Amino acid sequence: MTALLQANGLEKRFGGLKAVDGLSLAVEEGELHCLIGPNGAGKSTFFKLILGRYPPTAGTVHFKGEDITKLVAAARVRKGMSVKMQVPGVFPQLPVVQNLTIALQSHFGGSDLPREVERLLAFVDLTRDARKLAGNLSHGQKQWLEIAMAVGVTPTLLLLDEPTAGMSPEETWKTGEMILSLNKGGMTVLVVEHDMAFVRQIAKRVSVLHFGKLFAQGDIDTITNDEAVQEIYLGKGHHAH
Ligand code: ADP
Ligand code: MG
Repeated sequence: MTALLQANGLEKRFGGLKAVDGLSLAVEEGELHCLIGPNGAGKSTFFKLILGRYPPTAGTVHFKGEDITKLVAAARVRKGMSVKMQVPGVFPQLPVVQNLTIALQSHFGGSDLPREVERLLAFVDLTRDARKLAGNLSHGQKQWLEIAMAVGVTPTLLLLDEPTAGMSPEETWKTGEMILSLNKGGMTVLVVEHDMAFVRQIAKRVSVLHFGKLFAQGDIDTITNDEAVQEIYLGKGHHAH
């Protein structure tokens, strides 16, 4: 079986620095896969290579069995990728409902559009706040709005870069339940996270990145019990992100 997403020998150099260094990683269809690793390990850069925001300096990306290494970002989105990046991307001066409508309008028309917007607002628990300006939402609610915007295009593969950053433990847990529900509905999800309680809540398979390389891979217990992983990631002296 071919993986839904397959990176092979992926590399990204910034001058003398290899932010992603010969990384090969497969994400199987239907998986809920977590990517962890210390701050600066190359997680966000890896996402940008997958999404086509940067060209790689070496290696390939296959999606649905097709080589997409040279495709521009918009073409990858049309093929079924969607992302919520680490840096928020909502329009603060527009109401919540309008943010979502703009995100979905290329995918739904007629009466399907408001129906889908309503369904997603309920899914991320923002129905009561639909008329608020997005800029006036709490930090956690902004993240949920963005998740709704990313999910609204019904992607095959959803990429989430630190979706719970800055959230309270309760908001984090709620976000985990949302992601689990999306995955149960058939969406393949790749999540970058550093909150280990959250990773434990959701992950089936965990990959650890270190200096741009795949350092370890396994289920959450294997990973958290791995002494080398503890050393670089959970370990002392490192602030993990
Ligand atoms: P992570 O998301 O795991 O914290 P990043 O992918 O953001 O790591 O960064 C990996 C490394 O690449 C870091 O050393 C970072 O400083 C560097 N880096 C990231 N983006 C750029 C860029 N646009 N130009 C130069 N260096 C970058
Ligand atoms: Mg990052």
